[in-house]
Amino acid sequence: MNTTTRTTFRKTKSGEWVAFGPASIVRPRTSVRVTKRSGQVQTVIIETVGRPFKVDGVDMVYGYIERPSRAPRAAAPVARQRDNRREGKGGICDECDQPRRNLQECRDSSGILGLCCPRCAAGPAYERSFA
Ligand SMILES: [Zn+2]
Repeated sequence: MNTTTRTTFRKTKSGEWVAFGPASIVRPRTSVRVTKRSGQVQTVIIETVGRPFKVDGVDMVYGYIERPSRAPRAAAPVARQRDNRREGKGGICDECDQPRRNLQECRDSSGILGLCCPRCAAGPAYERSFA
């Protein structure tokens, strides 16, 4: 069988199963019939596709398969990491509740550990309340 005329499953380096087939067939937001190694055909919905590359002169792509139950869990950690990188040590000050930079650990009057902006951290602990 010609590898460039049908769509098959491939496993990526990260262990994810993707649909591998011609770019003219494997397209975002479309359902695609994928032939398993056993010869069975399974219909999957393609969420996104990777960059096309030529195989025997045909544009082939990896199609990332939509898994509705898994998508929200996978998306959340990525978004958090991105926020952390962008904000650096910035964030919401536990005392004045404003977005601040250069947050530092400090305790409030009850000894609760929080993150304060330099202005709030400079004041005495008994004036702070994070609860
Ligand atoms: Zn503050």
